[in-house]
Amino acid sequence: MAHIIDGKAYATRLREEIGRQVRKLREHDLVTPGLAVILVGEDPASQIYVRNKANQAREAEMASFEYRLAYGVPQAQLLELIERLNQDPAVHGILVQLPLPPQVDAERVINAIRPDKDIDGFHPINVGKLGTGGQGIVPCTPLGCLMLLKHHLGDMSGLHALVLGRSNIVGKPMANLLLNEHCTVTIAHSRSRDLQAECRRADILVAAVGRARLVPGHWLKPGATVIDVGINRIEEDDQARLVGDVDFASASTVAGAITPVPGGVGPMTIACLLLNTLEATCRQHGIAFPAGIMQSAWGNDACLD
Ligand code: NDP
Repeated sequence: MAHIIDGKAYATRLREEIGRQVRKLREHDLVTPGLAVILVGEDPASQIYVRNKANQAREAEMASFEYRLAYGVPQAQLLELIERLNQDPAVHGILVQLPLPPQVDAERVINAIRPDKDIDGFHPINVGKLGTGGQGIVPCTPLGCLMLLKHHLGDMSGLHALVLGRSNIVGKPMANLLLNEHCTVTIAHSRSRDLQAECRRADILVAAVGRARLVPGHWLKPGATVIDVGINRIEEDDQARLVGDVDFASASTVAGAITPVPGGVGPMTIACLLLNTLEATCRQHGIAFPAGIMQSAWGNDACLD
């Protein structure tokens, strides 16, 4: 049976470590990291995400600022708020919860966030830095996946990695991160032919597709490390369930290690949002980013083991 990679436990320890570092910054009268979250409209799932992000920021003893705007808010008003937050020295990270309503151009909004406060890592400057191996802000979900992989595998150089999905928020940045780790990377998507053959070659599989149980166990290379990003709500046996893009029951008999859904990648996403906020704060104030956290981010560290 595969080793179950416990993203929830890992994320809890990462958040605790971030909280310790935030306290240290405050005790030395340096700065309190501030996270501003903007929600437009009343989408129930987005409301839950925003509440969780704000709560976890507060638990990590960061300053948390929430802005709730009406669904019909004019784009200019949203851009004005972003500009105000860009200038606000108490705010080090700005997050606009997606999706946005149709009257708002999401690209324009993302581009309006100051790149060094763009803790989602979606601004073209941060996307470009990731693509060129520079020191930008990395999108939270792929960063969380990479941490789990590094923690489990250590050195990944030369391994075959398959990323299923090519979205800007998960698939593409994930592929770039794996390339930066010296993996041989393949990206597959809805037009790819023979997904099974692609999966069979992969030492590492990251599935970010949004199709319930698309990948059955017999597609996998025995011993592969599987990171399942997918979150799919299904009805089964008269019950609502959350399942991943990988069929966990069959995959866990073939894989070497696998993340569960829920309890795998999901908790890491918010922990990485806090990590990005802390890192953005340190950079804005010219403070060295705490080495312990970097080590924990990249695996093999004392504080997480
Ligand atoms: P998108 O819908 O933006 O992208 C999905 C990708 O999967 C696309 O590239 C698409 O191909 C590809 N795809 C769709 N169907 C197939 C198929 N049958 N075979 C191969 N490829 C296919 O999704 P996201 O990247 O935003 O999210 C992916 C999943 O991850 C979702 O379930 C989402 O809920 C989850 N998620 C989880 C997070 C977490 O924190 N755990 C955070 C973010 C997302 P094409 O480009 O050709 O259309």
